[in-house]
Amino acid sequence: MKITDLFKAEELREKGDGNFIVECPSCGSDNTGYGGMCLFVKTDTAYCFESKTWFTMKEVFALQKGIISCTEGRRKE
Ligand SMILES: [Zn+2]
Repeated sequence: MKITDLFKAEELREKGDGNFIVECPSCGSDNTGYGGMCLFVKTDTAYCFESKTWFTMKEVFALQKGIISCTEGRRKE
């Protein structure tokens, strides 16, 4: 399983570097401008631009379920 599998294809906005931007499932920061959540496909990690926090793939799943919020993420990768 890859981190992008947690999202529908239409939710993924591809960046030029091969990574993807989605709306943050926790804070709702959207993927249209400089906000949202970046999905790093090589490491299966995610970064919320709004709360400036990092997540593992399992933690992104927990964000989607409302178990944790993005402000609870770690500050370093
Ligand atoms: Zn967020």
